[in-house]
Amino acid sequence: MNNGSDAINLLEVRDLKTYFPITSGLWRRVVGYVRAVDGVSFDLRAGETLGLVGESGCGKTTTGRAIIRAVEPTGGEIFYRMDDDTVIEARSADRRELQTLRQQIQIIFQDPFASLNPRMTIFDIVADPLRVNNISSGSELEDRVADMLQLVGMSPAFMRRYPHAFSGGQRQRIGIARSLVMNPRLVIADEPVSALDVSVQAQILNLMLDLQQNLGLTYLFISHDLSVVQYISHRVAVMYVGKVVELAPTEKLFTEPKHPYTQALLSSVPVPNPEVASLGQSLEGEVADPANPPSGCYFHPRCPFAQEICRTTEPEFRQVTPDHFTRCHFSEELDLPGVPE
Ligand code: SF4
Repeated sequence: MNNGSDAINLLEVRDLKTYFPITSGLWRRVVGYVRAVDGVSFDLRAGETLGLVGESGCGKTTTGRAIIRAVEPTGGEIFYRMDDDTVIEARSADRRELQTLRQQIQIIFQDPFASLNPRMTIFDIVADPLRVNNISSGSELEDRVADMLQLVGMSPAFMRRYPHAFSGGQRQRIGIARSLVMNPRLVIADEPVSALDVSVQAQILNLMLDLQQNLGLTYLFISHDLSVVQYISHRVAVMYVGKVVELAPTEKLFTEPKHPYTQALLSSVPVPNPEVASLGQSLEGEVADPANPPSGCYFHPRCPFAQEICRTTEPEFRQVTPDHFTRCHFSEELDLPGVPE
């Protein structure tokens, strides 16, 4: 699997913005905007897993949904390389292009209990995308569903049962089967294990790793859980109040963070070795309001290293070492501790 910096980009996201209007009064006059996604840029390389991590409300889920236009972006560009090597820009795509795009990009949802229709059999759930797109019918459809269930470690003998007959882990396997039935190249996994017990989480993560290896999948893996992201990702992007503040290969980000927010997140991850001291400063203060973000660097009210320029001037997202990007005026000067190896 080629997932290094020489791999081709499957997805290029440029200055993506998604603002939600705040309305007031009888006439629902627009009085402001929630900047859920506020200028996000990243590349997703073919065959890699990019972890998108941050606190609740940082815009990571909206970013995933904006990429397939499940929510309408306000600005920016989203370039997707199709399997015939043509490139579609998702925001300017026509209906036909968008339909093709949505076949090649699929989503795995967080909650395996809510995301499966309790009135549909497993067969109907997994077969639904093929039926809707008129791709398959009859015995061919049944064979395809059986293959997908086997692929995710489920017996095809269960296909006439309903979701309530299965555990959380089994339901998530069914959700994965549904998301893969259209042969996507890119899967956006939105907190796919956070509703599961820890022991089951590992099984689903290992299944996703196997599927990536066998099918050549590319993942955008969205999670608030740094340990999970560390386990599955080749690179990690950290989001804060609608912006990516750091992006680096996973090991680099965990051992040599360059942004104070990343370091603060890392310091809240339990260290399994009692002989290793904690990483120090934990994160204090409230997450900034995306409807009324602070001036300058959005992180400055919580940052122990903030200086005058941080209050007045927004830092650019820039490369500080090869393949390592941050949004901080002082990344080169700060000596931030990472997670002990
Ligand atoms: Fe902290 Fe300033 Fe860097 Fe923002 S730019 S993270 S406030 S040091």
